[in-house]
Amino acid sequence: MPKTCPSCNGKNIAKIFYGYPADMDWYLKSIKTKKIVGGGCCVTNHDPKWQCTECYHRWR
Ligand SMILES: [Zn+2]
Repeated sequence: MPKTCPSCNGKNIAKIFYGYPADMDWYLKSIKTKKIVGGGCCVTNHDPKWQCTECYHRWR
């Protein structure tokens, strides 16, 4: 997991979660605490993996 955002150097990085979560409680809790962000259900090989929760920059 990256430690800082390449765009703003912020330290709040969330993992972008793709697909339907098996554990909905964990999913909603993780979104609330900004550990992950929902990335939608469509997965390609070019999807970004990380999102900065400060400037919303996405990268992989
Ligand atoms: Zn950022």
